[in-house]
Amino acid sequence: MKCVECGGEMMDVIGTVKMTCRDGSLILFKGIPMKQCRQCGEQYLSGQWSETIGEMMRRREELAYDEILRVPVVHIDGSLHLSGVVG
Ligand SMILES: [Zn+2]
Repeated sequence: MKCVECGGEMMDVIGTVKMTCRDGSLILFKGIPMKQCRQCGEQYLSGQWSETIGEMMRRREELAYDEILRVPVVHIDGSLHLSGVVG
């Protein structure tokens, strides 16, 4: 399998999948086997793992969390840049 983005070689890695809930909260799934491009770092999850994680998201109230992280958030008001008006 070659990278779709750049055609680079893929390697097997253990990575983290980030999922966003409908309410905007994030859940990280660590320790997931996936392919990663050696050149650009693009990651590819197998269909089987996508399904497994999708299923865990549907039943996330049953998940036992191993860690709770505090995540820094910066809000950028992009509308200011769109309109070209500051302030
Ligand atoms: Zn690539």
